[in-house]
Amino acid sequence: MIMQQVIILGAGLSGLTTAYELKKMGIRPVVLEARGRYGGRIWTLEGEGRATPLEMGATWFGEKHQHLMGMLLELGVGYFDQYSQGKALLESMSFAPPQHFDLSASEEPYHRVLGGSRSLIEALVSRIGKENIRLNTPIQEVREQKEGLKLTAVDGSEYQARLVVSTLPPRLLVKTVRFSPALPKKLVKLMGQTHTWMSESVKFAVEYERPFWREHGFAGTAFSQAGPATEIYDHTNFDGTAFALKGFLSPGTAQLKEDDRREMVLRQLVKLFGLEAANFLSYIDWVWANEVYTHQPYDSYILPHQNSGHPDFALPLMNGKLFLSGTETSPEFGGYMDGAVLSGLLAADRVALL
Ligand SMILES: Cc1cc2nc3c(=O)[nH]c(=O)nc-3n(C[C@H](O)[C@H](O)[C@H](O)COP(=O)(O)OP(=O)(O)OC[C@H]3O[C@@H](n4cnc5c(N)ncnc54)[C@H](O)[C@@H]3O)c2cc1C
Repeated sequence: MIMQQVIILGAGLSGLTTAYELKKMGIRPVVLEARGRYGGRIWTLEGEGRATPLEMGATWFGEKHQHLMGMLLELGVGYFDQYSQGKALLESMSFAPPQHFDLSASEEPYHRVLGGSRSLIEALVSRIGKENIRLNTPIQEVREQKEGLKLTAVDGSEYQARLVVSTLPPRLLVKTVRFSPALPKKLVKLMGQTHTWMSESVKFAVEYERPFWREHGFAGTAFSQAGPATEIYDHTNFDGTAFALKGFLSPGTAQLKEDDRREMVLRQLVKLFGLEAANFLSYIDWVWANEVYTHQPYDSYILPHQNSGHPDFALPLMNGKLFLSGTETSPEFGGYMDGAVLSGLLAADRVALL
């Protein structure tokens, strides 16, 4: 077992940001990732019809997200504005027709990453080097040793590092990883009561041959209290060559089969946008509550963003050998991509100081 200087747990946006920053400083960390893919809560799939980039995870950001914007600029990854021209729809009751309304022109536009949010992940991975990221390596135990920490993966493989940065959402970390000696009780309680942003979401996307909603003067934006889709947006690609509507389903639909969700979504899209909505190229959805490397069911009600950015997350653990990072630990925009980048930058600075 080789002693590494730094091991980062998790190849999501936060862990990859730390690895990239450390590499620039001449420190070569190893990233251990549970899933067989990079990106964590950034997850762009391709539609089966026109290969439209379909975001099943993080999608939007704004000018206020300066850490993320800075990272995109540095990596040369482009972005474009979310389409919002035309009428939006509000469905307040299942038995009443949807109301039309104008989207506020004064609202700052939200941006999307060109080619999909995966472009940012791919740019980071290529800078870090795939040889420094080990996929399919879920860590289940962290044990303190005289020098550094020993990590044990689910398959029994072991890793040693002087310093470990965990980017797992705090609740996931305390529910799925054993610590020896145990972490302070107060912190364990706090982590268990920290919301993992969007981990209960169900997202869907429907790919189309043409953006028929635009042709009828609709933005593609719809809000519904009748469901199953609660929010819907235009998801056309930057070039305007591949078209989709994308949105969120109410979390209760996680209990349905995908075929049933598809049928309900299409029925709702026909009601909102007309009969052409039934003539789709492909349908896809993603239930984040089923993702064991993101979500851990809550024992009691936890508010969205509860305990995000709590100052105790900045405390060094295991005699300064373990740091907590990841978007939920970020002092700003915790839960969002911007928070993931900021926590990644802060973790790199802390490692570099030692
Ligand atoms: C449906 C959805 C929609 C969203 N929409 C937006 C949006 O529009 N705008 C926005 O700014 N943000 C959005 N977000 C939030 C955004 O995705 C996150 O803020 C960001 O991606 C978090 O990055 P992270 O690296 O901190 O955490 P994660 O991406 O969760 O990364 C943690 C990594 O740790 C890995 N891991 C887990 N357990 C282990 C283990 N035992 N051993 C090793 N590795 C492990 C995971 O597989 C994962 O890759 C959305 C999220 C979701 C789910």
